[in-house]
Amino acid sequence: MRNVGLYWFINDLRVHDNANLLKAASEVDDLLCIYCLDPQWLLPNRYGLATMSANRWRFLKESLLDLDKQLHQLGQHLLVCYEAPVKAISDLASEHKVSLIYRSRHTGYYENQQWLALRKYLPLVQFVEADSHSLYGLDQLPFALAKLPDTYTEFKNTVVQLTVDKPVPPADFLPSSPVLQMDWLRNFPDCLKLTSESEQEIVFHGGETTGLKQLTDYFATDCASHYKEQRNELEGWENSSKFSPWLANGNLSVRQIYFNLKNYEQKVGANESTFWLFFELLWREYFQWYAHRHGKHLFAFQGIKQQKPLTSFYPERYRKWCRGNTPYPLVNACMKQLNATGFMSNRGRQIVASCLVNELAVDWRYGAAYFEQQLLDYDVASNWGNWQYLAGVGTDPRGKRHFDLDKQIRQYDPEERFINKWQGLFQNLPLDSVNAADWPHVAE
Ligand SMILES: Cc1cc2nc3c(=O)[nH]c(=O)nc-3n(C[C@H](O)[C@H](O)[C@H](O)COP(=O)(O)OP(=O)(O)OC[C@H]3O[C@@H](n4cnc5c(N)ncnc54)[C@H](O)[C@@H]3O)c2cc1C
Repeated sequence: MRNVGLYWFINDLRVHDNANLLKAASEVDDLLCIYCLDPQWLLPNRYGLATMSANRWRFLKESLLDLDKQLHQLGQHLLVCYEAPVKAISDLASEHKVSLIYRSRHTGYYENQQWLALRKYLPLVQFVEADSHSLYGLDQLPFALAKLPDTYTEFKNTVVQLTVDKPVPPADFLPSSPVLQMDWLRNFPDCLKLTSESEQEIVFHGGETTGLKQLTDYFATDCASHYKEQRNELEGWENSSKFSPWLANGNLSVRQIYFNLKNYEQKVGANESTFWLFFELLWREYFQWYAHRHGKHLFAFQGIKQQKPLTSFYPERYRKWCRGNTPYPLVNACMKQLNATGFMSNRGRQIVASCLVNELAVDWRYGAAYFEQQLLDYDVASNWGNWQYLAGVGTDPRGKRHFDLDKQIRQYDPEERFINKWQGLFQNLPLDSVNAADWPHVAE
């Protein structure tokens, strides 16, 4: 009897450094390569928002198209299912008598619930997970997950000396698919159209090909040697690596970045900036394991703390924040940049998050949900973990962060170039002009 496998792509949309895809290539006779586009993503979420902006849909579509192209070169093709994953995969597994299901470990709570549900529905199938979204594997961590250090610094000091596994090459060839190629593009959601402003602002294109190009281009410059001085700038392609959208979708792996950084250090020399870039990858790593450790508490109002914050939900303030119409020009400029491009600098993210929580006293989870909708680099662990940290309900030993917005302008935009470019002009309007509960139409 032929051994049939199913590879479930999630946030690992690539063929390079994909250990489980390579494993599947050597273990099964036939292989289904699938991606599930959950119809739930098209419905409003619990915050009343569409889960993904038009720009995120575009990036995802480009990533899937590129993956399909890469798979073709290996004798395979991508099957995109427009169904909830548990239903789609269990149906396919029964129909094709699948005996092995592979995927990359996901640290998100809901994604893990799906995995557990599948295991329950398909007791005879073997499930194989690999750690390909993180630098280290779960079994490499020198502590049990329940004993994850409480602070980033402690985590960093514990893991910094660990060996990172080398990225694996793509398979030479993949086993063939038992299903015919379908025109999945025809059904791809086109209900969300990019605004003409967003179309003009596209700088990130999804896919492994463009991700690998960014990796090569970045390390062909000397930007990594100046990273520490420049990473806090509000704008500028060279001021930070811009790897995040490709990393979040798995077009690039964090190990590929790590080894390119090490090569760069060998050729050009290591300095404080190159170390710093590694430390940022460790922040990402910390949040991955933090999400895995804390499960659904990642989305809880009180986070991992016992006490709820003293914030609430004010629809009008929230709407103004989302659209960049607050009394704070720098916040407005950052939000308009996010809405137009799907990207915001790390400094900008900290500033707007602090404003939402402190100046506007809005429940942090609404901010995180808006970022989830808009950010091309949305990653469940990094997004919700950073928001918790800033809102004072996460791991920050110093408690919540409150940025002095005027000081931030003096420091990072003294000539107000960024504010002017993104028209963050001061809106001299009261924050709360109406009391009407216009939610849930506040931020489509
Ligand atoms: C409120 C808030 C929400 C955020 N949401 C996300 C998110 O959804 N997805 C995401 O990838 N990052 C998120 N970040 C982290 C950070 O802002 C982005 O990773 C970074 O700005 C991406 O740009 P870059 O690739 O040029 O980063 P670089 O400065 O070049 O850093 C290199 C890589 O290190 C990682 N990294 C850097 N800073 C952080 C950090 N604070 N936390 C976790 N990883 C980090 C990223 O993978 C990044 O690509 C968030 C930060 C804040 C304050």
